[in-house]
Parts: sequence; C-alpha cells; structure tokens
Amino acid sequence: MSSTLPDLARLHALRPAQQPSYPDRGAVDATVERLRAARPLVFAAECDELTDKLAAVTRGEAFLLQGGDCAETFAGVTADNTRNKLRVLLQMAVVLTYAASVPVVKLGRLAGQYAKPRSSDDETRQVDGRPVTLPAYRGDAVNGYDFTPESRIPDPRRLLEVHRTSAATLSMIRAFVDGGYADLRKVHTWNTDFVADSVAGQRYEAMAHEIDRAMAFMEAIGADPDEFHRVDFHISHEALVLEYEHAMTRIDSRTRAPYDLSGHFVWIGERTRQLDGAHVELLSHVRNPIGVKLGPTTSADDAIALASRLNPDNTQGRLTFITRFGAGRIRDGLPQVVEKVTAAGLEVAWVCDPMHGNTFEASSGYKTRRFEDVIEEVQGFFDVHHELGTWPGGVHVELTGDDVTECVGGGEELLEADLGDRYESVCDPRLNRVQSLELAFLVAEMLRR
Ligand code: PEP
Ligand code: MN
Repeated sequence: MSSTLPDLARLHALRPAQQPSYPDRGAVDATVERLRAARPLVFAAECDELTDKLAAVTRGEAFLLQGGDCAETFAGVTADNTRNKLRVLLQMAVVLTYAASVPVVKLGRLAGQYAKPRSSDDETRQVDGRPVTLPAYRGDAVNGYDFTPESRIPDPRRLLEVHRTSAATLSMIRAFVDGGYADLRKVHTWNTDFVADSVAGQRYEAMAHEIDRAMAFMEAIGADPDEFHRVDFHISHEALVLEYEHAMTRIDSRTRAPYDLSGHFVWIGERTRQLDGAHVELLSHVRNPIGVKLGPTTSADDAIALASRLNPDNTQGRLTFITRFGAGRIRDGLPQVVEKVTAAGLEVAWVCDPMHGNTFEASSGYKTRRFEDVIEEVQGFFDVHHELGTWPGGVHVELTGDDVTECVGGGEELLEADLGDRYESVCDPRLNRVQSLELAFLVAEMLRR
C-alpha cells in the first residue's frame, strides 16, 4: 500500500462508473473544500481494531454480522429508527453467539450508506396516464427521491448533509452502546415489544432466559466481565461518490497512512470493482479494512487480481470478499473462486450477501426478495465452504428493525399481496425484524454443524 493518495483529478481521469453528473463544478469544489475541513467521523485506531477483528474472521475464529438499510435517508435519521436497527443487530448477534458459541463481529451498514449505484440511469413512471422519464434516484447523497425534474438534479451540497446525518447516527449509536443499552442484562428488554406474536420472538425469549441463568451463575461466583456491559460496534458503507470518500480521507498522525475516516469499513460495489477503475485505485491507498462485492460473473482470476491490487501485503483482516451470486448460482459459481483464491495463499474473509442476487419484481410492481431464496443462498454458501474446508465468515444483510413488508415469505408468510402494507425502502427490499431474527436462528444452526 502506497501512502501517496491520488488526487481527485487523477481518479476522474480513470472515468469512474456510477458518479453523479453535477451541473455545477464550482459547487462541487466548494463542497469538497468544506468536507476536507470537516470532522472525521471515526478514528484510524478504531479502523485498525476492526482489521484485527476481521483477521479473526479470516482465520475462522469469528463470524461477521453486517447489516442495515439498502439506502439510509436523511428523513430516516431518528433516535427510534437507529435504536431499532441497533436492537435487531444486537439480538441477531446474541443468537449467533449463544447458539453457535462463536464470537460475532458487529458491523452496521449505516451512518454513511447514502449513495446508490443504479442499473439504469433513468427511471420511467406513469404520471397522469403518461410515461415520464427522469434521472434515477441515486440516494440522498446525490439527489432527491421525489419524482420531479428539480428533485432529481444531483446537488453536491447533499454530501455535507451526509456527513452531518452520519455523525448524528454514529453519536446515537455510541450513546446506546456506551450508555448501557447493549448491556447483556438487557437481552429481555430488546425483545419485550414483540415476544407474544412471533415464533422467532418466543424462541428468542426462551434463549434469553438461558442466558440470564448463565449470567446469574457467573455473578454468583463473582465474575462480572466487562464484555457483559458493552459491545464493540463498527460502521460501514459503500464507498461510491469519490468526492466524499476522497475528502474524508486523512493522513493518520500515528502511522502516516491515509484512512477514509467516513466509516470504519468501506466496500466497493459490484458495479464499480473494475481492476483499473477509480474506486479500486482510491481504496488501494487507504488503510481501512475494505470489502469488495463479487457477483456471479466473477472469475477466480478477477478475484485474485483484486486481492493482489487491494491487499498486496496479504494482511489478514484487510480484505473481505462479499459474494452475492444468487441462490440459483452460488453452488456452481462460488467453489472455483474460493478454491483458487485459497490455493493462491490469499488472506481474505468470505462473507455472504444473500440479498443482491435474489431481487425480482412482484406482479404488483414492488421490488422484492423471497426469504426462502435468502436462506437458500446462505445455505449454499455454508455448504460450499464446508466442502472446501474454508470458513464461511459472515453474512451481509439488508434489514431494518421495523415491521416493514418488503421481502416475501418467512414465518409470518408475507405474500406479494401484502407488500403494499408497509413498503418503506427507497431502494432495495429489507428483511423486517422478525425475518432478521429468523435468519439469525437459521444461520446459528448452520454454524453449529
Ligand atoms: C448494495 O449493497 O446495496 C448493492 C448495490 O450491492 P451490489 O454492489 O452487490 O449490487
Ligand atoms: Mn441494495
């Protein structure tokens, strides 16, 4: 890793994919200047801590739980919303830790997840019976969700709001985590509002009783470790808009190395992982732990080339491959990639994103996913790794702590006809709270094997 950071002009010369076409370059420059002077959101030493934890995942000694919205919105940054997401992640982590006896690394897909790559530059909707085409919504970081020409114009000043709302979310998370909300003695409290009416909630409650008994025993013998009272929680997002990620990159005074201090962990998406592209170039220079999404067209040679470029020193914990092949393709496509990367001696953590290869449009027009496909992809991921003797290191999930109706299936048997009841995502469909907890119980069973 070189410590000289390429400048923005050099990155733009690489013709980066998925960038906003800003109408006013002057406004872009002014925004970048303000961001360069803005407070870092995280500290470099915290990023290093996460690298160490991901090194344990790489060695097969820990499991990564990464989750949150597909796209955060400025309006969605409320204390309730953040607490609900944190709560469901904590509940899932407890299920995984207790049922599978594996340390769980907790990583929010939040406090920065505001920019979206799109498969089409335009969106067409029927307005008053006629088709109207406008630029696609690219996340609150870029333009507005409202379907009007004004709202869809990319505005660089939104990046300042990304910084502000991410800081607000992170400060709430830090307050919950340090202020006792994540205390293990609260395992019941996290569940109180939905025990009665869901099987997953009842199953969780039974497990929480067992944990209580174990803790009472520990207390009785005089043990009260710090780990009972607080958790480590880190944040992550896709590094997409180069202006933002570049401006938030700072030279760490301890190591003299550049770190992208907009989040602890950043990843490169499936659409921007070109080996000679700007995103790979930028992230090859920062010292954060990073991820790359690998879709079903990834060859083993692509993966090896990415690893050599992004992790030339082969540092454990630096690189995570987040595979998202789809339930129907993972068993055929993943083995050769894992096999060759492993044979090349490359240190990577393998994580399964069972969401992005399984999206389809319901007849009602809603973008959705089947819970059963999500589970099938995770099962395929585990089976492939078990067969190859490699470690299925974690899951990357789009979820929310609220009772939305965005993915079909699961124990509540949500139907396509139910999707309109509470479809709140501005981008991809998320697992709701019950589905998320069900997923955690199923993954815990896979881990126990
Ligand atoms: C995402 O994580 O929201 C996303 C767009 O994923 P991918 O890059 O894998 O398509
Ligand atoms: Mn998504």
